[in-house]
Amino acid sequence: VETIRRGLDANLRGCEILRVTIHERRLRRPIDVARLKTLEGRIVRGVGRRAKYVLIDVGEELIWLLHLGMSGRVLLVPTETPRGGHEHVRVELDGGRALVYRDPRRFGLMRFGLAAELDELRDLGPEPIGNGFDGKALRERLRVTRRDIKAALLDQRLIAGIGNIYANEILFRAGVRPTRRCFRLRLSEIDRIACAVREVLSEAIDLRGTSFSDYLDSDGSPGSYQFELAVFDREDEPCRHCGAKIQRRSHGGRSSFFCSRCQL
Ligand SMILES: [Zn+2]
Repeated sequence: VETIRRGLDANLRGCEILRVTIHERRLRRPIDVARLKTLEGRIVRGVGRRAKYVLIDVGEELIWLLHLGMSGRVLLVPTETPRGGHEHVRVELDGGRALVYRDPRRFGLMRFGLAAELDELRDLGPEPIGNGFDGKALRERLRVTRRDIKAALLDQRLIAGIGNIYANEILFRAGVRPTRRCFRLRLSEIDRIACAVREVLSEAIDLRGTSFSDYLDSDGSPGSYQFELAVFDREDEPCRHCGAKIQRRSHGGRSSFFCSRCQL
């Protein structure tokens, strides 16, 4: 989502929003059509992000919020491009371009309002690549929960914006098994996890950031970025570190991948 934010910021900043067309309002929450139409005539000041939410700032504390759900995509196309499949929203901009929102599964979200009244933005944990995140903050929160560390990493209230792929990669990097209970982790292990969070996310953003074009996708599929995955989706393949077979376990409806030799 951070790479999408960067792409949108580079492309939309300073653009005027000319026309908003909503073809399908039934996303995860229904789009408030009348409200979204009031984007017309506003200028994009910049594009920010909080957790997995893209926040398009149009001034006067008003935020156009976008969440891409499971299958959402935003594309910038020439205005004359005909409506594509699963295109639910089209926002025409000056300069002959339009921002198009496509989402086959419609788990995404599009809202518009004052930053303070968007309830999605409440209760989010610190940003893993911001200044408010370090081993100390993580220690305080992990040592008092019995949950497993993988579930904790995916909890947006603990750390904002870590998805399943990166949670697996982070735990491999830290040498900690996904099933370990948080309150049993040693301080040194928590510090390694905190370090790995920053490293893995920064590397992924840098790599994908360099291959960014005008096509902004967010399906989170491992094939679509160049980050070399150590464990995710590598069941039975050799560990890149020790050669043992990567294991897969399903828990909490999500797959965990780990090396039973490198991760204790
Ligand atoms: Zn290994």
